[in-house]
Amino acid sequence: MFINGQWSSAESGNEFEVTNPATGEVIGLVPDGGAPDAEAAIVAADAAFGSWSKTTAYERADILYRAWQLMNDQAEDLAALMTREQGKPLKASRAEVAYAASFLRYYAEEATRVAGEWLPSSRANQRFLSLRQPVGVVAAVTPWNYPISMLTRKMGPALAAGCTIVLKPAEATPLCAKAVFEILTEAGVPDGVINLVTALDPKPIGEVFTTHQLVNKVTFTGSTAVGRLLAGVAASNLKRVSVELGGHAPFIVYPDADPVRAAKGAAALKFLNSGQACISPNRLYVHESAADAFISTMVERVRKVKAGPGTEEGVGVGPLVNAAAVTKVADQVDDAVTRGASALVGGTRLTEDNFGAGHFYAPTLLTGVDSTMKIYREETFGPVAPVITYTDDDDVLALANDTNYGLAAYVYTNNLSTAMTAFEGLRFGIIGINDVNPTSAAAPFGGMKDSGLGREGGAEGISEYLETKLGGFAI
Ligand code: NAD
Repeated sequence: MFINGQWSSAESGNEFEVTNPATGEVIGLVPDGGAPDAEAAIVAADAAFGSWSKTTAYERADILYRAWQLMNDQAEDLAALMTREQGKPLKASRAEVAYAASFLRYYAEEATRVAGEWLPSSRANQRFLSLRQPVGVVAAVTPWNYPISMLTRKMGPALAAGCTIVLKPAEATPLCAKAVFEILTEAGVPDGVINLVTALDPKPIGEVFTTHQLVNKVTFTGSTAVGRLLAGVAASNLKRVSVELGGHAPFIVYPDADPVRAAKGAAALKFLNSGQACISPNRLYVHESAADAFISTMVERVRKVKAGPGTEEGVGVGPLVNAAAVTKVADQVDDAVTRGASALVGGTRLTEDNFGAGHFYAPTLLTGVDSTMKIYREETFGPVAPVITYTDDDDVLALANDTNYGLAAYVYTNNLSTAMTAFEGLRFGIIGINDVNPTSAAAPFGGMKDSGLGREGGAEGISEYLETKLGGFAI
């Protein structure tokens, strides 16, 4: 762990193992922190807040620029570590490191753009000035699926704003978190400004983060169930809250779309990170007139997606995070097939030969999916593309909106007014129109409904770490 500028063990002295999900091999030991460690980290962050918040925006920007540079310099090592610890193919790890670094650069720039306002008054002898100041100590909890970029997406803006941070990474990926902290420290972040608490059991840390008097803001990325719990406790203690949660993205192919292009997009997107992405499409609504061309292209593409350890050349789908994740995917696919869906490709766990040591599920294409099936409602978080064919009689936007989630949605159409109607009508925070990668450090990312509160990225991303102070001046 990293508390007040020192790498340390847990107060209890306990450690836990980190394993490679492709091989089951133990790749590291990290401190198993508890409530006393979380408290020490918060006290350190609070003590550092006074001086850090008084640094100039330009000093903070310089540190973030250096961190961006260091992350780029070390990209190859970071990508290799990510593949070993999280499992995604090396190419995907490289892309994630570049994405993670982009938040450091973007918020280095944004740090210097935090400005207040001079506001008019109805009294001739009064002036109003509004000032934006850092919220204080930020407690962050991050997931394993994007184990570097989910940290920089929070830490970049928080540091730029002048906040100090305590962070608990997912228990599956503490080594990637450690690497991010090493880079930020090397870049010049002072002692106490960033603090890392690793733990096998997240609950005691979550309790301290959401109740401690010295924490001013809680930011979380992970499942809706845990986000709801943490946000509830944090809000009842009147802490500021941002939560980026699960999704169940619809992917709509309209009759006027190019079905081959749509299928290529869907196949590229669905199997990213083995489907373990909150913006992964989970319901592919394809108009009946486009279904044959779409499905045959998908069959061809999905057959070509090679599963295996992320270190192997040509692998497109790595292992899932653990055995429970494979069981959840298998359960959803079995339920769908029992209720009448067809697995045109895949549909099975991969256990033979070298697969046996890891947590693998075959890249899968399901057709004939309908609303009676679990997969139609539950987030899959695995490499399964479920196709639902719709007709002119169906209101496809109503079908797409019929979910408690509201993170990402995708639309394929060649008609501008269809695109506009879908863009406006879909109740999701991020819409890709003929586009499977609607994300950038410069763009606000976040969900509606059960997918979360707040936005990360863009100018909105730094606002989450600032609060407004009003000054009334009588002259
Ligand atoms: P998870 O909620 O189980 O874990 C996320 C983090 O919360 C981990 O660090 C975990 O240790 C911690 N955690 C779990 N229980 C806790 C508790 N009681 N108190 C404090 N911390 C606790 O989710 P996961 O399975 O690791 O991640 C997958 C989920 O994350 C998916 O639902 C996915 O959609 C979502 N996700 C969302 C986004 C987004 O930006 N919206 C990005 C990535 C992942």
